[in-house]
Amino acid sequence: MNQVLSYLPRPDLQVLIETLQAAGFHCVGPRVVDGAIGYGALDDAAQLPWGVTEMQAPGHYRLSDSDTPRCFAWANGPQALKPFLFAPRENLWTSRREADGGLHCDETLPEAMPLAVIGVRPCDLAALALHDQHFLRQAVSDPYYARRREALFLVAVNCTHPAATCFCVSTGDGPRATYGYDLALTELDDGYLVEAHSERGRAIAAVLPLAAEEEAQVAAADVALQQAADSQTRRLPGTHLQAPLFANLNHPRWDEVAERCLSCGNCTSVCPTCFCYSAHDQPTLAGDLVEHYREWDSCFTQGHSYIHGITLRAETAPRYRQWLTHKLGSWHAQYGRSGCVGCGRCIAWCPVGIDLTEEAAAICGEVAPA
Ligand code: SF4
Ligand code: SF4
Repeated sequence: MNQVLSYLPRPDLQVLIETLQAAGFHCVGPRVVDGAIGYGALDDAAQLPWGVTEMQAPGHYRLSDSDTPRCFAWANGPQALKPFLFAPRENLWTSRREADGGLHCDETLPEAMPLAVIGVRPCDLAALALHDQHFLRQAVSDPYYARRREALFLVAVNCTHPAATCFCVSTGDGPRATYGYDLALTELDDGYLVEAHSERGRAIAAVLPLAAEEEAQVAAADVALQQAADSQTRRLPGTHLQAPLFANLNHPRWDEVAERCLSCGNCTSVCPTCFCYSAHDQPTLAGDLVEHYREWDSCFTQGHSYIHGITLRAETAPRYRQWLTHKLGSWHAQYGRSGCVGCGRCIAWCPVGIDLTEEAAAICGEVAPA
């Protein structure tokens, strides 16, 4: 286990929240909302999902109570970090007509509130690293994303309870967090092993009421994480699927999956790495002011491939093919790795239970490591 600092007894989880607040952060953490676990404001450790566990399967997600004394005994719900940094809908600028007929533009950069997110899973840290690559490219860095990213403090939680839909082991992104966090917790029945990975993380850890970790606690965490890794049964058929996907652009499976796929875009909404957006101008009736909005889009929508009067992907089959060949294929050329971090959200939240690991295996067969 890297950089184990210490042990935080369970009753002192509240101290972590209060320490982050005293350092100026607004805290959010996992809460049960509308039958699912998502992020919500966190002022009191009692608001965490104590004793809650979950069942996930293709097209299926259900919470239930259990006798576990833990509050992180579940795998990811539908919400990733994505909406904190890349807003679902955002006004990027406004332009207004001046009295002399000239145009005046105002940017609408957000005030970035220092935000501490507690409970981030390793797959979502990997997705964040991908979004950093995309949104913070030096020449074209996105200032809206950049402001929020600078204000973000991340408390990761290593995954000891993966869902049946998880396959982060096969993408190399879990179940243990190895980078990209400030603090990481591994939950045991009576407390948390705490690791710090940044200067800010070490500064917060320095004022927590930490005890020295015991060998047995570290061993128990290692066993739990190994069991979590071993329990994953889903996997992708290889780590680099660009060649087999592109060699099979006319595979009959694209039409077969399209018979089930609703082109609803749920998979792209919940995916922590999908970053497509559309842009719209919203003028006032008087015509003197226009607000320019960016809004999440999906390769499953009609408008996504509309260009010069033609919708290039009018049917579902080419849309599904676009999603899979980009996510698992051409993403390698763009970002040096696959666009899938194995979170399994697109499997659980697909209303008809389409499983991308099954589709990838059907189209690619077994692929030797690159
Ligand atoms: S493609 Fe599916 S499993 Fe992979 S990161 Fe996106 S939502 Fe998660
Ligand atoms: S794969 Fe599932 S979630 Fe994605 S667009 Fe098709 S039906 Fe919707």
